[in-house]
This record gives sequence, structure tokens and C-alpha cells, in this order.
Amino acid sequence: MPKRKRTFPCGHKGYGRTCHRCEQERMIQEQEHQELEEKRNKKLEWEASFSQDIIDLRGLPDYVVIKARAIIDGLRTSKNYREFGGKRLRHNRFVISIPVTRNYRMLCQDSGNFLVPQKVLSHEDYNVCKPGD
Ligand SMILES: [Zn+2]
Repeated sequence: MPKRKRTFPCGHKGYGRTCHRCEQERMIQEQEHQELEEKRNKKLEWEASFSQDIIDLRGLPDYVVIKARAIIDGLRTSKNYREFGGKRLRHNRFVISIPVTRNYRMLCQDSGNFLVPQKVLSHEDYNVCKPGD
């Protein structure tokens, strides 16, 4: 005996006990909802991560933040700033400038035995902040 199509309460026609069309739609919606939720959580996590930084990295591009954190970590585990291409400023030998990316620099205070990261500046801000170097 051939299977009979039936009409579901939703108005769709099909075989089986439940409407496959609606079921599929529900699954897609659920997936989209989960993806949205994940995105939202990631964003919240990212925003929360800034409170762990010893200097304020908010407002910087993501890749700059990630690179800056790697440098901060490296300095903390007593890596030499020269390994990151850092240089002493000519007009202030106690300040070390480390390139983060092509357009960003991190300024660190040399406190004798270790470096204290001060801030990350864009190239433009850096030039305004430290003229002549
Ligand atoms: Zn349906």
C-alpha cells in the first residue's frame, strides 16, 4: 500500500508523523541562535579580557592587542626587549620603544631590572608624543 501524504497542523503536506520542513527550519534557527550566542559570548570574553591587562589596550585593533599581549608576556618571562626589536629612546634612555606592528609601538619604562610597559601608541600618536625620535 503506498504511503499517503498528510497535511500537518502547520499547513505543509508530507509523510511521517511530523513536518520535516518545519523541523528543518527549527534546526536551522536553533543553529543560528547558537552561533549568535557563541559570537556574543566571545565578544563578552574579549571585552572582559582587557581587565587582565597591565596597561590599557582597549580601542586598539584586535591583532595589535594580541601582539602587545605576547610582548608583555615575553617581557614578564624576562625576555630581552631587543628580541622584540626594542630600542632606547635617544632623548630619554629610560624609555624603551618596542615595535608591536608596523604602525604601533609599545613604550616601556626601564626600572633597572625589568621593564614596565606604559602604553601602546599608534605611529601618529607616537610621533606627537615623542617628537624628535
Ligand atoms: Zn510544516
